[in-house]
Amino acid sequence: MPTPKAESRVKTRYLDPFIETLGREALEQIQLRKLQLMLEPILESNAFYRKKLGEAGLRSPDEIRTLDDLRHLPLTSKQELSKDQRDNEPYGTNLTFERDTYTKIHQTSGTTGEPLRCLDTEESWAWWARCWATVLTGAGVTSRDRIFFAFSFGPFIGFWAGYQGAQRIGALSIPGGGMSSYQRAKAILTYDISVLVCTPTYALHLAEVAEQENIDIANSNVNVTIQAGEPGAGLPATRQRIETAWNARTYDHAGATEVGAWGFECQCQSGLHLNEGEFIFEVLDPQTGEPAEEGELVVTNLGRVGMPVLRYRTGDRVKIHPDECPCGRSFRRLDGGVIGRADDVLIVRGINVFPSSIENIVRRFPEVGEFAVDVYRKGNLDDMEMRVEISKGEPGEVAAAVSKEMRNALGLRVRVEPVPFGTLPRFDLKARRFKDHRNLE
Ligand SMILES: [Zn+2]
Repeated sequence: MPTPKAESRVKTRYLDPFIETLGREALEQIQLRKLQLMLEPILESNAFYRKKLGEAGLRSPDEIRTLDDLRHLPLTSKQELSKDQRDNEPYGTNLTFERDTYTKIHQTSGTTGEPLRCLDTEESWAWWARCWATVLTGAGVTSRDRIFFAFSFGPFIGFWAGYQGAQRIGALSIPGGGMSSYQRAKAILTYDISVLVCTPTYALHLAEVAEQENIDIANSNVNVTIQAGEPGAGLPATRQRIETAWNARTYDHAGATEVGAWGFECQCQSGLHLNEGEFIFEVLDPQTGEPAEEGELVVTNLGRVGMPVLRYRTGDRVKIHPDECPCGRSFRRLDGGVIGRADDVLIVRGINVFPSSIENIVRRFPEVGEFAVDVYRKGNLDDMEMRVEISKGEPGEVAAAVSKEMRNALGLRVRVEPVPFGTLPRFDLKARRFKDHRNLE
């Protein structure tokens, strides 16, 4: 939804106009060349990929003559990387260089298992900064901006890389670690912040706190918010809620610690662009494994030679947009961003339910704050229960309306229980609103 504050931004900026608008054939030639250059040291000294690619019959980068040749190499899964680290603690064998070459260490949040530790060299850290500079520039952010990172700055990579990306484009960056939400809301006014970077959950929470403390963030100079760390901003209802609360334009971005910041939105905001200058993307049909318009996103990163991923299965379900974007970039787009995650799907009474679909329904109700979902097995039947915080209106009526909407949209009867505002947990990173008790029994 356009807002007067956000409309003042200059349209269509590129970080690298040459690469971002290059024709498909030339772009693929550059991807191929980068891949070949990267495979040289990997085949020579990366134990993990040397073994894996060797078993697939690849001995030299020269054997990869086209991007189609890449498709004959084996896929990499997160389970494989985790197992490798378990068997070869602490960093595993996916290392191309001597250990002293690396200067940065981060780890995944461990939402779906034990954390994966990732190392970067100065060179690959500069690559991360470039990827994030593309995210920021895509959203129209420039060196004139003041960017606030509302995050605790622990070992999770996303916000460090975002901070580095902000340096890359020359913006003024303010780290919001070690502050309470009240202090952060105040800092946004004090530092005259124009861009907010945080998780979508936290953007909503910070707006709630600001409202309680009578801090008028809607009239602050924040006119762009960039959401990182968890999905959500791709959901129309969540996005609209953040935009209304902040009176700003909300941009989604996608990435993963082990892969890089691979997706960004441009100012046309009609899908998530794939950063094809720094990655090679494939979409594979989950049944056949063949290239498809809709399926699982598979990524090869081209700038993290020290700890690469080749043909990495992201588990993200995506759909390629058939048309070129009006922004002029030739980078392809994902229609509706990441549609769902293969490993997130809950099967309730035989119905596939994506947590994102539930969030998109709940966020349409402005009376509802946080929510939590529990799935139980009672006898032979699955039972889904939802707790919702209600801030306005008659709680029973609002809960009944949410329940009705869930039934209409998902075809599922869900018991919705209203709870007082502020009683459900808030999350700094990776909201965990869904609990499947059937797996815990
Ligand atoms: Zn675009």
